[in-house]
Amino acid sequence: MPYQNILVAVDLGATTEAVVQRAASLAGQNSALLHVLHVIEPLAITYGGDIPMDFSAIQEEIQEQAKDQLDRLCAELAVPETNRHLVTGRPESEIPTQAKALNSDLIVVGSHARWGLALLLGSTTDGVMHGADCDVLAVKVDADP
Ligand code: AMP
Repeated sequence: MPYQNILVAVDLGATTEAVVQRAASLAGQNSALLHVLHVIEPLAITYGGDIPMDFSAIQEEIQEQAKDQLDRLCAELAVPETNRHLVTGRPESEIPTQAKALNSDLIVVGSHARWGLALLLGSTTDGVMHGADCDVLAVKVDADP
């Protein structure tokens, strides 16, 4: 059965292009809807809460830049505004949550080579696979091919 509703999660980094192109080509082959998601991690979570600090101005700036980048990427792929999603939270839990809310039947993510501590901590893709109710495609990508 062809996929009908594909969600691609993008970190907006160097490997985004490869991941999104794979998702767009699958959407084309399956005549599926394509949704594009970026998750902004709150600075308060990223940098812990030991010292109380107001990150709201920086967070707003990050939000604006992420929206610009997401819009540019989606415009190139002709993904309509309704299918562009920018949410705040932890990527490994937000990606499966958004996939369920959108009734996605396939999540596309990137899979990066990992070493050392990163290997022990696990990847976003591992978290997505555990949390997802639908198929997950991990596209092999490398920032330094
Ligand atoms: P990582 O585990 O950080 O190497 O990321 C693997 C893949 O998870 C990326 O290629 C993206 O598909 C997805 N991902 C990671 N971070 C985010 C994010 N902040 N928003 C959306 N997707 C993400």
